[in-house]
Amino acid sequence: MTDGKEGNSLLITGATVLTLDDNREIIDNGAVAVAGDRIIAVGPSDDLRQRFPDMETLDAAGKAVMPGFINSHTHAVLLVLRGTVEDMSGDAIFGYMTPISFAMTDSERRALARLGCLEAIRSGTTTLVEPFRFITGYAQGMVETGMRLWLSENGADALTLKIRHGIYEHDRAFGEEFLARIVAMVEQFHDTENGRVQCQMAAHAPDVCSPWMLEQLNDLARKHNLTRTVHLAQSPGEVKQVRTAYDRTPAEYLLDNDWLGPDVVAAHWTYCTDDDIDLLAEHGVHMAHCPANSSRRGPHKVRAGRILDAGVNIVLGTDNMTEDMFQALKIGSIIHRGGLGGKNEGGGVNPSPQATLDTATRNGARALGAEAELGSLEAGKKADLMILDLNQAHLRPIINLVSSIVHYGNPGCVESVMVDGRFVMRDRKVLTMDEDAVIAEAQEATVAAWRRLNETSGDIELPPALR
Ligand SMILES: [Zn+2]
Repeated sequence: MTDGKEGNSLLITGATVLTLDDNREIIDNGAVAVAGDRIIAVGPSDDLRQRFPDMETLDAAGKAVMPGFINSHTHAVLLVLRGTVEDMSGDAIFGYMTPISFAMTDSERRALARLGCLEAIRSGTTTLVEPFRFITGYAQGMVETGMRLWLSENGADALTLKIRHGIYEHDRAFGEEFLARIVAMVEQFHDTENGRVQCQMAAHAPDVCSPWMLEQLNDLARKHNLTRTVHLAQSPGEVKQVRTAYDRTPAEYLLDNDWLGPDVVAAHWTYCTDDDIDLLAEHGVHMAHCPANSSRRGPHKVRAGRILDAGVNIVLGTDNMTEDMFQALKIGSIIHRGGLGGKNEGGGVNPSPQATLDTATRNGARALGAEAELGSLEAGKKADLMILDLNQAHLRPIINLVSSIVHYGNPGCVESVMVDGRFVMRDRKVLTMDEDAVIAEAQEATVAAWRRLNETSGDIELPPALR
């Protein structure tokens, strides 16, 4: 087993199986049978041993098996900024993230993206949703890690490098460069690798996409039958620009341009009004929440209670500077509970640990339109799973496993990760990458990218350690 080809099979036995199915069934001494890229059965170990007597067995006593995390919004390349903008004031998006993404070479973007995949695998993630720029120049480096991917090129027709100087200028030729890259991306990557690699249509954000650009992106989404994603109400600058240009909130502007619907995942919602939230909920838009990244400079001030009360499907992401979904779970739980203001039903605190765990698994699958394939351990679904070592000081004692995972889990308990029926990490060894080389290349690429950014954009200073 382990190379994922047809005919390979494995029976994982003796584990605590967190199915994350509709009933959130947890099976003690449970088993998961995998054949090829699919789960073919889930149930008590004794039953499955009888049904599949000849299958190769992996004894997982003392371990838990659960669906791999779906990171619903990340930009792995922006690991290049780790340890810098978190501790700065001012606009990180157009001040640093955009300029460095343009300054980097394809091989530097590739090096950081592969570091992101390495961190993601080590922290139990099987799916990365990655909207970014110049994606065709580096995505193959992610594909080779064996992860499940939803890739997109963040379309925009505002000259984003001018925004940090206070200038919003739309330019059709600039937008057309993005559209050409999007077409190339879809041709090269969409629905490849046995369906493991998919593409989405991405509008970067309402302030940097004109009505013309949003229309072009919609045409392409329809033509290729792609789900859509957008950053929404992320910064005061975005809200101000959309008000100035169109006299709308960002959510209202998207509605005007046919960019709201159940096929849309919108990230952040930080500056959404109550009316915006009602509008987004009414149109079935999913919320990609990145609570850890959004809280680096202080707890994320988003109307989380209102959003939860509106019944919005919330999915978790890491956004920038980390791929650790355990951190997103912990800080997400705090922000969502804070938003509900201690309101509780049935004597517990809402949201429950189970509801929070859903945001990193089955809710993410639903937002991608992939709930029939991903998000839970059930017969017929893709074999995307992780095996957790429960005999870890940070998880014990275990009274309620889901609570332990949400509040105290960390990448150190992730022992093995399988994507599409193939182990990408087994017994803590990553099988698809040379880990030391990935780390060294990412460090080298980061130093080079910062130096080039400083040389080409004199107003952006080097971090003191690189001077
Ligand atoms: Zn983002």
